[in-house]
Amino acid sequence: MSGQTVTIILDKIYNKSVPKPTSLRPGYDIEYSKAYCHIYSIEQIEKMVEMEKIYDNLSIIRSFETPQQWAIRVKATLQTLIAEGYRSFYHVFCLFGSFGQGVTKTCYNHWAGRELPISYHRPSVHKSQMAICFKCWKLVKITEVKPRKEYFDGWRRWGYEIKSEDLMKDHWDNSCFKAEIATIAKNTIPSAPNFEPACISPARQKMISPTSYQSSNCGSNTSEIFISSLYAKQNNLLPSINYLNRPVLKIDDGTEITIV
Ligand SMILES: [Zn+2]
Repeated sequence: MSGQTVTIILDKIYNKSVPKPTSLRPGYDIEYSKAYCHIYSIEQIEKMVEMEKIYDNLSIIRSFETPQQWAIRVKATLQTLIAEGYRSFYHVFCLFGSFGQGVTKTCYNHWAGRELPISYHRPSVHKSQMAICFKCWKLVKITEVKPRKEYFDGWRRWGYEIKSEDLMKDHWDNSCFKAEIATIAKNTIPSAPNFEPACISPARQKMISPTSYQSSNCGSNTSEIFISSLYAKQNNLLPSINYLNRPVLKIDDGTEITIV
């Protein structure tokens, strides 16, 4: 399931087999996502709900908190989750701010001998409409987008769709990159690479290379990046311990980041 994204498709015929979503945010509606991703087995549903709940619990902005305080509180945990490869269907490119609590309905399953989830509703979208971007780690306001008219070749008909990236497009085009530059400019530690575990883009890797080094391990696809423990501490990176008893972070493409 990891890496899969949900596209909202609005089409009279299609929405008879896949329910019309309750929200125009891709991945928000679990019933829609389940049908879209063909998740039918109890084990798959349980796994999916478990992961979505972890992200959703982090997404809840508490009543006494400002979005800024929320972002500071959850950032390190969020970075660790992404670095370890745990992905959500809804929080794909950002963590959307939520309000309230998720609701899980369970039913006793005789075969499994325990209560299993049969449905799950996320917490509500927070009225501030704020989110934490996984690329620049800044707070972003998510404005609703209109579904795009698309021609579906397979069906040979027109329909409407919204993809997860559509909600981020405005931010990516206008302020995401600028925010990254601002972060680098503010960085006064000469030896500190600008490390973002969620998006090591080719451009990013270039930024890392002058102050750190990478080594490719022949015979495996795993590459390594080394960063200083001082930098890790300052940026709240939470590593786990590898087999050599050294702190290490692992990112999606298998790259290991060792803290030295
Ligand atoms: Zn951004």
